[in-house]
Amino acid sequence: MTRYSPLVAALLLAIAAPCALAQDATVIRGARVIDGRGGPAIEDATLIIRGEHIQMLGAGIRVKMPDGTKVVDYEGKTIIPGLVSDHSHIGQVEGAQSGNPDFFTRENSLRQLRQWEVYGVTTITSLGVNNPAVFYPLRAELHAGSVPGADLFGADHGIGVPNGAPPATMMKAGPNQLDRPATVAEAKAAVDAAAARGTDIIKIWVDDFNGTLPVKMKPEIYKAVIREAHAKHLRVAAHLYYLDDARKLVDAGIDIVAHGVRDKPVDAAFIQSMRKRNVWYIPTLDLNEAAYIYAQHPAWMDTPFFQHAVQPDLARQFADPAWKAKALDGKALSTNEQALAMNLKNLKMLHDAGVRIGFGTDSGATPLRIPGFAEHRELELMVQAGLTPMEAIHIATDSAAQLLNLDDRGVLEKGRLADFVVLDADPSTDISATQHIEAVWHRGRQVSGKVEAFTP
Ligand SMILES: [Zn+2]
Repeated sequence: MTRYSPLVAALLLAIAAPCALAQDATVIRGARVIDGRGGPAIEDATLIIRGEHIQMLGAGIRVKMPDGTKVVDYEGKTIIPGLVSDHSHIGQVEGAQSGNPDFFTRENSLRQLRQWEVYGVTTITSLGVNNPAVFYPLRAELHAGSVPGADLFGADHGIGVPNGAPPATMMKAGPNQLDRPATVAEAKAAVDAAAARGTDIIKIWVDDFNGTLPVKMKPEIYKAVIREAHAKHLRVAAHLYYLDDARKLVDAGIDIVAHGVRDKPVDAAFIQSMRKRNVWYIPTLDLNEAAYIYAQHPAWMDTPFFQHAVQPDLARQFADPAWKAKALDGKALSTNEQALAMNLKNLKMLHDAGVRIGFGTDSGATPLRIPGFAEHRELELMVQAGLTPMEAIHIATDSAAQLLNLDDRGVLEKGRLADFVVLDADPSTDISATQHIEAVWHRGRQVSGKVEAFTP
């Protein structure tokens, strides 16, 4: 039955206006739409797409479409915005291997970007260790939508520490992928060079990777980086682990805490300065769990949703008893379990206190941080931390886009990019429903169906 509302007249005009326009419109109808802002879903929604953008979104509209209008019926499905990762890496991993600068190729990066896209992550941020010769042309192509894959933003080389972080064994970087300034002048020069190349963000690695490295970044270095980045109108994201480092960095003017605080509970003073300075916090809950969970073989490892994200060499590693035994070695296991527990607790406290939360898992940094899968696991862990499914979705979409200063995505509304994921279940009460992907739409086009059709 036709329901009349003020939207109908506008809708008829929008569809029936010039014929040439009418023919490139796509009308999506019947689905429940979660728009990303965190409010109640729109039931029986009609979504009109023109080109790459949403032209209209409203509830319960039924009108006759002119010939040539593509109509897609998604009755019974739920639509959420494409997920946005604020902390990932491209070009670090191939199969079960990482730490080889030869992996930073256009082909390998595109393979991963396509995987994120098929898993509904339509925008990612490669937070450092990028080879500019590969990264910038790729970013331009993905911004233009001329190649398949998640849209790409990033932090150029990133700034580490001589003989320190990031550990050369984990993320062995080529000479064109990382700076390790020893002096304030070198730090300033590294920021200037990244700014000149057009970086989106500046990344620093500050800590000693749980005592495995002999040095941390000196305060004079990170202060110089922050000062110079701000002078160039760039924001700085920090790799960190300890509350003490987080506190000092926030006081020094850091813009984005790129990992959760995992050694201690955050305290009132820290929460207050995060809020006062409007600092973003990306918990990366999945990261510590990924270090051991695959060796424990939870039931979800037998689902197609997991398996289609895992390259064959990595699947073989997961089945290898010797690898499993090593991954479950006592000390590393308990360190990672404790880190995850603290990270969950701190996320809940910071979120409840109104600190701005971004979304990311460090996917792609190592083989265990699996692009696409990691982001859906992160949503589950956020709910385990005590957030509601709608809060978790809001963080992974609207909030994550805001962290990147992007106002053209993250929310499903008129004028924004038509980046969305069609689900065969409703995640508003059960977050694991985000894993029932029916289709992914990116820039107004359906770019994939179920993940089963994807070979990693
Ligand atoms: Zn990272």
